[in-house]
Amino acid sequence: MTPDQHWYPAYVGIGSNLQGPSRQVEAAAALLAEVPGTRLVAVSSLYRSAAFGGVEQPDFVNAVAAILTTLSPAALLQGLQAIETRQGRERGAARWGPRVIDLDLLVYSREKIDSPELTVPHPGIGERNFVLLPLGEIAPDLVIPGLGRVADIPVNMNEPGISRIA
Ligand code: AMP
Repeated sequence: MTPDQHWYPAYVGIGSNLQGPSRQVEAAAALLAEVPGTRLVAVSSLYRSAAFGGVEQPDFVNAVAAILTTLSPAALLQGLQAIETRQGRERGAARWGPRVIDLDLLVYSREKIDSPELTVPHPGIGERNFVLLPLGEIAPDLVIPGLGRVADIPVNMNEPGISRIA
């Protein structure tokens, strides 16, 4: 490790609703530890929720992982996409359709990014309970740029039910 190498905290949302979703989510979390220049710090419980978006499909399983990384946000996104590919994710599938694995960069240090490839903090944090609840479990005091402290962000009461499964 070079003396001026910086380790940035980041949070990754993980979701699946195909081919053994709990197993897929756990496998993706484990693979985060193998991304170059990256350490896996914590993984939330798994949460099950009904799919939304008008497509009839199996329930989703979601979790959030905390990592430390020396990678830039763009390089980290590539690392996340490599995990998706390794687990058999087909690119170009329907936006709200079923998926074997989905990895989202939720938060990267205190950065706000709005580029064609990357929106950080991820817009789902304040909108989706399957992101907010697992993130709140492992990082309640995290302050998200533009949103504030995780534990203070209100749960969305209009979403279908969500339950902690493991
Ligand atoms: P999805 O179908 O949800 O996996 O979306 C994948 C696309 O979303 C990729 O082409 C990314 O470039 C883009 N994207 C934008 N912001 C993010 C983010 N914070 N995390 C992951 N993907 C992102």
